[in-house]
Amino acid sequence: MGTQCLICESSAVIDRQAARSIVLAIGALREFMQAWKTLKSEGEPAQWLLHSLSDAMSAVTHIHPDVQSFIADVERYQFGGFDCLCLRCGARFDAPSRATSVAQPASQ
Ligand SMILES: [Zn+2]
Repeated sequence: MGTQCLICESSAVIDRQAARSIVLAIGALREFMQAWKTLKSEGEPAQWLLHSLSDAMSAVTHIHPDVQSFIADVERYQFGGFDCLCLRCGARFDAPSRATSVAQPASQ
């Protein structure tokens, strides 16, 4: 996250790829927690852990249509066609290297 907000200069800026990664990580965590809930006490904990992590990572690589739809909604409603979103002030803008427009005018 090396991009600074063009409005408030905060470094709490994420791009669409980071938002996508966050959604996928939450999905993997959810899969892992589902597996945790079904843990059988007689199983070998280390083997169960490796198996559950493998299943969770597999779920990430095969994106469920609901997750894909969720990611599309995040990109549409949160990013609105721009590359970056400031988590502090909510400004949306394109990455500085290819910035051609800014969602909100800078105050100066
Ligand atoms: Zn900002």
